Amino acid sequence: MSDADTLFERIIAREIPAEIVHETETTLAFRDINPQAKTHVLVVPKTRYRTVGELAAADPQLLADVLTTAEEVARLEGLTGSGYRVVFNTGDDAGQTVYHVHAHVLGGEQLGLFGR
Ligand code: C5P
Repeated sequence: MSDADTLFERIIAREIPAEIVHETETTLAFRDINPQAKTHVLVVPKTRYRTVGELAAADPQLLADVLTTAEEVARLEGLTGSGYRVVFNTGDDAGQTVYHVHAHVLGGEQLGLFGR
């Protein structure tokens, strides 16, 4: 896992553009540039932790903030009735490519099963 700065610090700092959906004091939500569902939004804590496990251990309140923002994004996107999925990829085998923890909020259509 890399310790280098990630794109997401630059999005939080507004140094590179993103389509922001919602913001709180501690979190930012923006649309994924390569959506894997009709609705695909990423929620990041403004403080960087590399993985959800590191975040949970270091700052459980901040993890709760990320999940509360995910629910708010689902509400704003009209997904709370039809359902949605929250995913945290951890590590290379899971396909984590950006080592600034992020929740994927996916919905807006029937989603496939987990797996390969
Ligand atoms: O879980 P993972 O680390 O693979 O997720 C990273 C996500 O960040 C990808 O879904 C990718 O499309 C997204 N991304 C983005 N904006 C960028 C770079 C990556 O939304 N500028």
